[in-house]
Amino acid sequence: MSLAEKLETVTDDAAGTVDRHATTKTFESTDPGSGAVVGVFPVHDADAVRSTVERARPAALAWAALGFAARKQRLDAFRGYLARRMHELADLVHRENGKPHADALLEITLAIDHLAWAAAHAAKTLGSRKVSAGMLAANHAAYLEYQPLGVIGVIGPWNYPVYTPMGSISYALSAGNAVVFKPSEYTPAIAAWLAAAWRAAVPDALDAFQVVTGFGDTGAALCRAGVDKLAFTGSAPTGKKVMAACAENLVPVLMELGGKDAMIVDDDADVAAAADAAVWGAMSNAGQTCIGIERVYATSAVYDRFVEAVTAQVRTLRPGSDDEATYGPMTMPSQMDVVRRHIEDARAAGGRVVSGGTEDDAYPPGGYLPPTVLLDVPETSAAVQEETFGPTLTITEVRDAEEALERANATSYGLAGSVFATSKARGLDLARRMRSGMTSVNSVLTFASVPALPFGGVGDSGFGRIHGEDGLKEFCRAKSITRQRVALPVNLMSFARPASAADALARVMGMVHGRHR
Ligand code: NAD
Repeated sequence: MSLAEKLETVTDDAAGTVDRHATTKTFESTDPGSGAVVGVFPVHDADAVRSTVERARPAALAWAALGFAARKQRLDAFRGYLARRMHELADLVHRENGKPHADALLEITLAIDHLAWAAAHAAKTLGSRKVSAGMLAANHAAYLEYQPLGVIGVIGPWNYPVYTPMGSISYALSAGNAVVFKPSEYTPAIAAWLAAAWRAAVPDALDAFQVVTGFGDTGAALCRAGVDKLAFTGSAPTGKKVMAACAENLVPVLMELGGKDAMIVDDDADVAAAADAAVWGAMSNAGQTCIGIERVYATSAVYDRFVEAVTAQVRTLRPGSDDEATYGPMTMPSQMDVVRRHIEDARAAGGRVVSGGTEDDAYPPGGYLPPTVLLDVPETSAAVQEETFGPTLTITEVRDAEEALERANATSYGLAGSVFATSKARGLDLARRMRSGMTSVNSVLTFASVPALPFGGVGDSGFGRIHGEDGLKEFCRAKSITRQRVALPVNLMSFARPASAADALARVMGMVHGRHR
């Protein structure tokens, strides 16, 4: 029996993967394409969440005590286990989240690559190193190391139910922490599958990675359950609630929130490549991508050609749940209303729909939205300012790349973005000045597949970083140690120091630093 089949319902087999504790309340997760039940899971209450975190605490100590090499060995076993069952997991992702099997595979391969990188780079990034002790402590050796925090609470969304939470889980585990993961109520089976995979691959550290399931209340309980840090990925409004709950006990937080990412298409851009990237960036995963492209600013020199290329390509897309569908249904039914509101609002404000729209009999009923391209949408409208999180794209003509940049930077969000420019210097300059945590030049979303690059936003898109060395350090505290190598004849930090010692030091420091003007 595959892991996915075992998780069809909460059976004794699955207990321990998703332990029911004393909880009697359950909820169903369903296939957004067909409505079929994918699994039944406990709604963990505050007691259940607290006892899970308590069980994680000794596991965190044991996991940390293993050291980098022994942890890497186990994380590699976890990676191998996932890699051998990619299709099984992708099938579950397709059923529970709705995205095409091929897109699910892509997401899983990215998650595995990050897991490999985090495990391989933890020792070098976090391990003890000697640093210069400086002039004032020249008779001491100075050491820096990054120690694990303990138990990390991870709260995740449903849109990339493997890649996104694993961005926190892999890096937190590699740094030597235990993890308690609360997945979205829309994707609990995928989380339970990951926990079952962990238990099968790493049987001597079972409680280092556990899952609790439920709705917002379960997430709020995790914030208050004694975790040492809370890594949240989700919307900005929920992020504020998570911060408020964590503030009660001074629990530090990592905030990976929403976005309104823009693409700039400059005069010298490869227009066909930019159009192809914009359509993928906007419409893949039904537009439910935090780093998806929602707005394009194209210069007058390329605008007409760009719009033509985008509209032609969008006509070839078809949402559905079958093997040939280019993207799936909306995972969260209530998001349909947000997308429709943004399109209607844009229309009412004078925007033109050149493809898609809100009604189209050609599309299957249910949670499927047509790919929608909007032109001439005022910058103040919801479709330009708020996260739409659907298969839509606004394209706006601008005088030049400077105006594009100004507009791209004019939302409260600042997660990621893209620049298309053939000039290397121009492309990199625009990328640097884009107000976002990440920007790809001449492609979209590429930074997400580079494990060495930190991932995170600015402004309403959050703070803190997963991925890369910063992502490892995010789940650690810096520990500073000095060791006196030789004693000096005069010890400045002693009541026994001579009265003249401080003056002598001041004279030396005056000579060294005072000449700078
Ligand atoms: P959401 O904010 O509705 O929910 C996220 C998680 O928070 C879920 O697990 C939910 O159960 C939990 N939650 C809800 N209320 C809570 C509370 N009061 N306390 C604690 N937890 C609570 O977001 P979503 O709809 O699941 O995901 C979509 C959002 O996530 C979008 O805004 C998207 O841009 C964002 N996202 C960001 C990134 C990133 O890396 N920056 C990645 C993926 C998704």
